[in-house]
Amino acid sequence: MKNKISVIGAGHVGATVAQYAAEMEIADVVMLDIIEGLPQGKSLDLLETGPVRGFGASVKGTNDYKDTAGSDIVVITGGLARKPGMSRDDLLAKNSEIVRSITESVAKESPDCIIIMVSNPLDVMTFLAQKISGFPPNRVFGMAGVLDSARLRAFVSLELGVSVEDTHALVMGGHGDSMVPLPRYCTVCGVPITELMEKEKIDAIVERTRKAGGEIVAHLKTGSAYYSPGASVVQMAEAVLKDKKRLLPCAAYLNGEYGLKDVYVGVPVMLGAGGVEKIIEVQLTKEEKEALHKSAEAVKKNVEKLKI
Ligand code: NAD
Repeated sequence: MKNKISVIGAGHVGATVAQYAAEMEIADVVMLDIIEGLPQGKSLDLLETGPVRGFGASVKGTNDYKDTAGSDIVVITGGLARKPGMSRDDLLAKNSEIVRSITESVAKESPDCIIIMVSNPLDVMTFLAQKISGFPPNRVFGMAGVLDSARLRAFVSLELGVSVEDTHALVMGGHGDSMVPLPRYCTVCGVPITELMEKEKIDAIVERTRKAGGEIVAHLKTGSAYYSPGASVVQMAEAVLKDKKRLLPCAAYLNGEYGLKDVYVGVPVMLGAGGVEKIIEVQLTKEEKEALHKSAEAVKKNVEKLKI
């Protein structure tokens, strides 16, 4: 296959990214983990589903960064996931060490790649990877908004009994409790949900979206979500590899847009071969803008703790 995606961390999210990417044949896939045998075993298993599921992408598992050399996209999922009672911010100290060392190896072997960050706390880890790699910010961005918006869309679909395919949503801000779901930009077949549902229902759906990751952690008890995060990453990777110019919410570096500077936070962007090719500035009300700024402040506070 022409393109190559490397997935660092062959755990729940990493293996799911590998599965969807291989099945969609958007690239050959390399899975890397520090645990010996884990990426090799999962890769072989996935490769052997090819004859049944009908895909021919190559899938290789490794513990050696040399096998990731020349990747077009590197997805970073290495690190700890949440357990019940933990916030994403609780992962900061441990995951920053892990993401730092992963990024150094990735930048060395694939100096021209695009990095899609997944590890939490997402916006902070994306900032860290950009600084450590020294890549231009358009080539380092994070996955959160696609997932948070998908969750909002799923809840709207459940509430109204309409197909998820006819729902659209926009969730901005950091990937945490301060995320900013925007009901005005959440539509069913073009009609804002503010015209389709009572305010109380919308408030409940917004609140469920904010806590959707935690809802799954509480069920699983041993880890966090992976099907929807994996699918969200692959939608972003596909937009880049096929130069689709998709408009998707991602954790992107802001340099004055939305009145914010030197921070990664979730905003709609145009994703194409150049990575984040444009930041899309949508109209926000005073309250929405305040919520976005509050969310960015929370990200900045955590970045300060890292002493990059
Ligand atoms: P997991 O525990 O199943 O997998 C993590 C993997 O990373 C493990 O296999 C581990 O061995 C590996 N790893 C640890 N240190 C490493 C290193 N130095 N180099 C390479 N691999 C290393 O966890 P998961 O469920 O796959 O979640 C992974 C990360 O993604 C977590 O930080 C989680 O919070 C985050 N996450 C983010 C989102 C999002 O929306 N951005 C969604 C889900 C999960």
